[in-house]
Amino acid sequence: MRKKIYAVLFCITFLTASFITVQGSDIPNPNIKQHFDLLYKQIIGPIPGEMKNDELPIRYEITPSFEVYYNEPEPVTLDDNIIALINQVDEELLLNYLENLTAFGPRVTGTSACEEAGEYIYNEFVNLGLEVRYQEWENGGFSGKNIEATMHGVDNSSNEIYIICAHYDSVSTSPGADDDGSGVAAVMASAKLMSTFLTYHTVRFVTFSGEEQGLYGSLHYVEEALENNDNIVAVLNADMIGFAETPEDASYVKIFEDEESEWLTNYTEDISQQYNDFIGIEVIPSGYSWGSDHYYFWQAGYNAIFYFEYNYNDYYHTSGDTIEHMDLNYAAKNSKLILATLAEISELTTQQSPNKPVKPNGEINGKYGEEYKYTTITTDPQNDEIFYFFDWGDGTDSGWVGPFDSGVTVEASHKWTEKGSYSIIVKAKDTEGHESEWSEPLSVSMPKTKIINYFSIRFNRLFTLLDKLISIL
Ligand SMILES: [Zn+2]
Repeated sequence: MRKKIYAVLFCITFLTASFITVQGSDIPNPNIKQHFDLLYKQIIGPIPGEMKNDELPIRYEITPSFEVYYNEPEPVTLDDNIIALINQVDEELLLNYLENLTAFGPRVTGTSACEEAGEYIYNEFVNLGLEVRYQEWENGGFSGKNIEATMHGVDNSSNEIYIICAHYDSVSTSPGADDDGSGVAAVMASAKLMSTFLTYHTVRFVTFSGEEQGLYGSLHYVEEALENNDNIVAVLNADMIGFAETPEDASYVKIFEDEESEWLTNYTEDISQQYNDFIGIEVIPSGYSWGSDHYYFWQAGYNAIFYFEYNYNDYYHTSGDTIEHMDLNYAAKNSKLILATLAEISELTTQQSPNKPVKPNGEINGKYGEEYKYTTITTDPQNDEIFYFFDWGDGTDSGWVGPFDSGVTVEASHKWTEKGSYSIIVKAKDTEGHESEWSEPLSVSMPKTKIINYFSIRFNRLFTLLDKLISIL
């Protein structure tokens, strides 16, 4: 049924667009396309933000300066860590953020309420131990701050960046609970829960201001990202994800995409299906919409999707956009979907380094000047190849030897040049440079001469024999 409606709407839109094309022959082609997109969206759904048609952000042209590079994500499979992660998202967690955010009053960009809300978000990120910064912007007579918290990926060889974002400003007439307290709560909950894990790739939790004036905060963010050649692979933008009219409606979420970002919609759809028992949301791919902070990422050639509630919210930009009019259970379900998508695509993990190698094994009563072999073994959680480093206890070491396959016994040899007792320890690192802890030490004794050595070995054997005898008697 939905498809039929869309088909009809598409026809209406197409006819309207054709009409414009025919009538407005003085309009250059690119504008017609933009006009077409805009009409299309106005018919099938509301557009967040209070930008007027003649204030379209299209007036800022961004030219991508480089190609984003990324490895195709693995097919989505159920992951116990991610289940544990999203099971912690609940109404209570979101309510806490929403109450704090709405307590500042309308968070209009440039006002002290908006400033204080920004400080609140900043401090929450800092308390999680994340790397946090303000990014200041100025545009169209407005100025404001974006807040960015970064979780660096454990894979040093990856420059892939994944972003979850929302806008923390609101319009003057509204407490901005759903628009976009709901999205900010999803970002803050994701930061809180993900910061107890690790990810392979870098994740950024970003909240923008200036959205309601014309996507100013995100425009500045994207410009700087391009200047820095940031390899942003995916942007998950949450703007109004907490309103539903009926429990039935609360089981759908709309996703807006551009053509290049379609793979991301498919990806989050796979997540919703695989994790259906833990989320309970069905994705409704809804085509193109420029009306939120993902827009300039698209302009810049980055891939982004826009999560948006299924129903039109009648309280949108009114004093009625309060927590009371939200469906917090729906907000929690959408937050879980976005968080699971982010965690899976950035490759959530609990540990990156190889396990602690076993205590070295080899001769413990040798003599100096002779070479002895010692073995150890460990595994890497990701099955990466492993290098080993033996510290011989005499100020020398083996250097990094390897790499060897995970779970294979390895051997290194050493010759002590002076009499003494030494303790050998060994550590491991994977091919990405993540180091393990040091092993338990193996104590070895290297007596002075062959004769002393001879006797020390004999005595040792004698003592062992005596021990056995005593235990038998
Ligand atoms: Zn919004």
